[in-house]
Amino acid sequence: MTVKSIVLSKNQIDILKQHSEKNSPNEACAILFGKTDDSSITVKEVFLTKNIENSPVNFTMSPEELILAYSKAEREKLDVSAIFHSHPGSVAYPSSTDKKYMEINPVPWVIFSNIHDEFRAYIYDLDLVPVPVKIL
Ligand SMILES: [Zn+2]
Repeated sequence: MTVKSIVLSKNQIDILKQHSEKNSPNEACAILFGKTDDSSITVKEVFLTKNIENSPVNFTMSPEELILAYSKAEREKLDVSAIFHSHPGSVAYPSSTDKKYMEINPVPWVIFSNIHDEFRAYIYDLDLVPVPVKIL
């Protein structure tokens, strides 16, 4: 899938930053619901999830929360557009573990680096491809 950009509002960015700061030093995670138009994803809703691993270098969402997220997206006629997680102590670039999961889950992965206060997004399409993050 080619994705030209992922668009988030300032408010959504603030929610994700707060969620990341609250979970630090562990990774925070969330699911982003949105609409895709002309290969550009606009995020409509942020669904915050728990990192059941409580780890500073990995994250896992519970199956229960995933089921909840998918049914909520379906009810609201939104797509499960992207996966978010934070890197409390490193750059906003996928780790080797991220890369492995990105391969089997080819939606954009949005990463926030707490230490660099920076959002970046990547999608796995044969290799890691950067997706521009636009903040409106
Ligand atoms: Zn990661």
